[in-house]
Amino acid sequence: MVTNSLETEINKCAKCGKCRSICPVFIETGNESMVARGRISLAEALRNNEIFYTDLLRDYLLSCKKCLRCSSICPSGVDYDLIIQTMLDDLSNHLGIWLVPRMIFRLFLTRRWLFNILLKTTYTFQKLTPLKRHGTMRHLPFMFLDGRWVPPLAKETVLKKYRNTKKINAPKMKVGFFSGCLINYVYTDIADAVIEVLNHLGVEVIVPPKQLCCGIPARSLGDVKTALKLAETNVKVFEDAKVDFIVNACATCGRTLKRDYRQILGARSLKFTQKIYDVSEFIEKHFKYETKPLNTKITYHDPCHLHWGQNISKQPRDILKRSSTFQEMETPERCCGGGGVFNLLHYDLSMKIGEYKAKAIEKSGAEVVATGCPGCILQIEDLLATKDSTVRCKHTIQVLRDALITTNKY
Ligand code: SF4
Ligand code: SF4
Repeated sequence: MVTNSLETEINKCAKCGKCRSICPVFIETGNESMVARGRISLAEALRNNEIFYTDLLRDYLLSCKKCLRCSSICPSGVDYDLIIQTMLDDLSNHLGIWLVPRMIFRLFLTRRWLFNILLKTTYTFQKLTPLKRHGTMRHLPFMFLDGRWVPPLAKETVLKKYRNTKKINAPKMKVGFFSGCLINYVYTDIADAVIEVLNHLGVEVIVPPKQLCCGIPARSLGDVKTALKLAETNVKVFEDAKVDFIVNACATCGRTLKRDYRQILGARSLKFTQKIYDVSEFIEKHFKYETKPLNTKITYHDPCHLHWGQNISKQPRDILKRSSTFQEMETPERCCGGGGVFNLLHYDLSMKIGEYKAKAIEKSGAEVVATGCPGCILQIEDLLATKDSTVRCKHTIQVLRDALITTNKY
């Protein structure tokens, strides 16, 4: 496990404990093994053969949300993400990957047609459960995941709906849209908004139908083999599409495509990763446009993987200020508690972390909270519904679409 770069990063940690002051998991649990400093100490102990790989160690590693907040304030500049990911990869070499996730990753994530069948079946059974919580959410069928509240699966996926590119006259550029799983199967209106806005701005949008999951769920559980396969497929699919840029609207996918693909594929991913843009970053860099601001008070939640992971926080605010009556909430960069695998494994803790966010949203007096990640939308909708709040959650690009093209939605 101990490579040169890992050794360097471990040695950089001054054990100052500053990460404890900011880590959302540590703030709730007070457990030293659930914060960057503690996990770095565990990495040292592993290196020195003082401890071994155990299920308890796996629990401590998987209790990290990988929100990157600690790296943003670390005075020693420790690349904590590299340390935790190397430990997770190594852990799976010693303890293997849990059977059910391994089956899902290897069977479904790498075979789109099979994944589609699985989710189509889920969609059918999900329709048997009533729409509740202001008519926006249903239970999962058969009480999967303790009957967790989730938004309904979409009737038609993004990849199917946009398999034929909508041609526009004399396009300024050609852009590929990387959908990501949540947008493809649940929040399809976000893809509609991306494509409508970009078409409106003179951009032709190609949605390659053979693209797959970005791979982060597999990588988070140490399934490097599946993550590599997914990364190789996605790079090839978008290279074949011959697009000028690749745009995404998911903070977590975006960070994975920009950073993880470089780690996984090395230099051969460079041409691909250089083309990756978050949709707000892309629009603010390339276009000037006029909006008819919505008569709606909107606040903004910074997704960790956009703010800390890609240094993008000004662009979505600029879009929202042009599109609405903008109202900043208290500590908008504080984590909402969501986050893929973490939320699945630690649901109660993730809701506890999100408490502060839900209160901050309510306190802002906004009618809508915008954000840049479908994972955050999933979490925030759950948090707000728990409080019986009427505040709606939208993606920044949906707000821009409504202010730029359709003004009748509010
Ligand atoms: S803030 Fe950085 S240097 Fe300080 S304990 Fe945490 S990881 Fe180590
Ligand atoms: S990445 Fe986030 S959850 Fe993990 S140790 Fe750092 S601050 Fe805590």
